[in-house]
Amino acid sequence: MDAISQGELELVRFDTTELLREIERTLFPKLSSDVSCHYGHIPNLGCVHKVSENRYVIVLHSLFNHPDTPEVVVRHLLIHELLHIEIPPRELREGELDPRVSRKKGAEPQEPLGPIVHPAEFWVRERALSPERLLAMKWIFEAFGGRLKYREREEGIWVRKWRSEYGRGIVRPTIEAVRSLVRDEGRNGLGIPDEMAEVCA
Ligand SMILES: [Zn+2]
Repeated sequence: MDAISQGELELVRFDTTELLREIERTLFPKLSSDVSCHYGHIPNLGCVHKVSENRYVIVLHSLFNHPDTPEVVVRHLLIHELLHIEIPPRELREGELDPRVSRKKGAEPQEPLGPIVHPAEFWVRERALSPERLLAMKWIFEAFGGRLKYREREEGIWVRKWRSEYGRGIVRPTIEAVRSLVRDEGRNGLGIPDEMAEVCA
């Protein structure tokens, strides 16, 4: 992993650390680690670094560091990253399909890809803890869709050309607008590519 990026001055309309503390208190009461968070220039949407025994740093992409980013989106990303601390990567179990390669029908058998970062139990927990996850992901794709690329092997969504495009011409929709889109389209028509619906970082 690259060195942890330097934190940026927060531009969002809420206090991200306060939000993180509230999520820890309410959803992760057994988590004893010391966790901090900031926004920074990273290749993907979000990540969590273990910096020492029992200490973690969550970094969210600079794209989110904007007054028009809804709190519900950052809330979902923080829940996702905290879940990585609760459910660390693990080896595939015998007979378990690797979701990173099983989508490609007829593909050549591949070498094992090593520990899986988002095992099935991760998504079960995420669904339980983050009821607004689909709304949050829909907002992310409405706002940044063309700039995002899903990388199957890395199990994450990468941001394209963020250096040159950051801050230019990005229209961040309101969460209300996206909420009515989700309501109109229903769960089956979120307009999120299938393989991206269950990933973030
Ligand atoms: Zn993740």
